[in-house]
Amino acid sequence: MKKILDLPNGRLQLPAFLPDGTQGVVKSMDAQDVAGSQVQAVQMNVYHLMQRPGSSTVQALGGLHAMSGWKRPIFTDSGGFQVYSLIRQNPKDGSIADKGATFRIEGKKFKFTPEKSIQLQMSYGADVVICLDDCTHVDDSLDVQTASVQRTVAWAKRCRVEFDRLVAERGLLGEAKPKLVAVVQGGGEKDLRRQCAEQLLEIGFDGYGYGGWPLDSENKLLIDVLGWVREFIPREFTIHALGVGHPNNVTACARLGYELFDSTMPTRDARHGRLYTFTVDPKAGWLAGKFFKYIYARDKKHIKTNLPISEFCDCHTCTHYTLGYIHHLYKVNDHLYPRLATIHNLRFMTMMMAALRAEV
Ligand SMILES: [Zn+2]
Repeated sequence: MKKILDLPNGRLQLPAFLPDGTQGVVKSMDAQDVAGSQVQAVQMNVYHLMQRPGSSTVQALGGLHAMSGWKRPIFTDSGGFQVYSLIRQNPKDGSIADKGATFRIEGKKFKFTPEKSIQLQMSYGADVVICLDDCTHVDDSLDVQTASVQRTVAWAKRCRVEFDRLVAERGLLGEAKPKLVAVVQGGGEKDLRRQCAEQLLEIGFDGYGYGGWPLDSENKLLIDVLGWVREFIPREFTIHALGVGHPNNVTACARLGYELFDSTMPTRDARHGRLYTFTVDPKAGWLAGKFFKYIYARDKKHIKTNLPISEFCDCHTCTHYTLGYIHHLYKVNDHLYPRLATIHNLRFMTMMMAALRAEV
């Protein structure tokens, strides 16, 4: 039986890819454009939104759904990864302790705790709330990975308590109740990943995520660690490969049993002129071998191409415009280019997910 995920703002067919709209918008796209690309849900980020437009503004504008015009489910990331990236790059700008994280951005001081992350995500009206976690890089030492797992589990426990308190306070029952997801850390240490998964399962969540940087120092997917973690999460729970977005990596993880993916990669690639196309018809079945290739919008050879970007794509861009025109828009730097390119790359991702749903 095909797996589905019912959320307050709609139903998802799994596996599903979620574009990242970290700032409350999938860049260059209006909510209708995103829906037109058959996207089922988007992922936004509490760390970015609390800075701009600011949490009280998100609330004043009616929450993320009302503010962005997006009617379908919204996942919100806890900000753990962003806090870690910021502090790792600029250790003098902040610190992470058991209590929570403090950091400084543009001179403004922010205090971030597991409870606060949950409070903000709930106040934004998220369908899926993600526990604050303590991220590491896969190359960090065993001591660092061990401390990260301990803190991630302790924070997940606090997130669970705060989430349950807010759900009760707001009387969110049945379908109106958002889902709470915890993130498995442990870097490349399989024992720590297992311990983390087991301790989180003991607390109990609606779903689980694979956290931390999913690639090794050579940018290769940590497929054996991802597979290892997948085995510890019972199939009745959803499992999310956080930050995985390259088509080859999504395909590999979906075949391991991962069901949710989010990344800025397909939309960022689109804006930068990298368009995704299938080399085989995705409706014909198995996405074998090198099933896709890049087309570069800047490439001179497309000047007079009187064909769509992809013969297999039914997106708004491919049904209305030629690759030659897309090349022209890119060259003259028109604002229409990123919109049309993003529509196309997102439709590529949703067609790819449909093909994976048919096979996994
Ligand atoms: Zn297209």
